[in-house]
Amino acid sequence: MSIKNEVIKLIVFGGVFGVGSSAIVIQFVSGHFVELYDPTLEEIYTKDIQVDGETVKLQITDTFNSDEYEALRFLNISMADGFVLTYSITSKESLEEIKGIYEEIYRVKHKNKNEPIPIIIVGNKCDLENEREVTKEEGMNYADNINCPFIECSAKTNENINQIFEIITRNILEQKYQREEEEIWTIKKPKREKGCCVV
Ligand code: GDP
Ligand code: MG
Repeated sequence: MSIKNEVIKLIVFGGVFGVGSSAIVIQFVSGHFVELYDPTLEEIYTKDIQVDGETVKLQITDTFNSDEYEALRFLNISMADGFVLTYSITSKESLEEIKGIYEEIYRVKHKNKNEPIPIIIVGNKCDLENEREVTKEEGMNYADNINCPFIECSAKTNENINQIFEIITRNILEQKYQREEEEIWTIKKPKREKGCCVV
């Protein structure tokens, strides 16, 4: 695979409106914090990122979780290479909601739970410690259970924002390399004769 020429497609989902998924994307892409942003806008951004010395092109879809646009959501999910599932540490409900999105991703991708899909669980608004409803352990335990990386961040202070995109991009590349190696191995592996044992 030539990483340099390939565009990696990411989707950023928020559990509920207002968790800060747009603020995370805008902070990452443009380097500033937005106080107010239309919650019903779906935007696509592109940005190059350096991962392990390689430049990778990201296409990031900032979307929102609405039942009204189910067909669009299905299409987005089926086209994406990786997913950023965002909740706010100030809202237990938002963590519960991303669990549903996680299930939906597996359904739409027609994958079993033992087949990995690059997904990162992100707890945003970690600057609002005094409004915290979800402990770090709760977020981490959920991510561990589903075998996904986990990070807390703040779109406001820019804490860990770049790291989200580095981790998910690295995850996507590793899974791609692994799949390719398995395919090469399957092609190269000589067929053994039935019942023949070479000593
Ligand atoms: P979305 O609906 O998930 O896209 O949420 P938005 O990105 O539109 O953000 C919703 C509100 O939360 C806005 O007023 C943001 O300014 C605010 N917000 C987003 N991220 C943070 C954060 O990390 N810390 C704080 N304190 N506020 C945030
Ligand atoms: Mg938004």
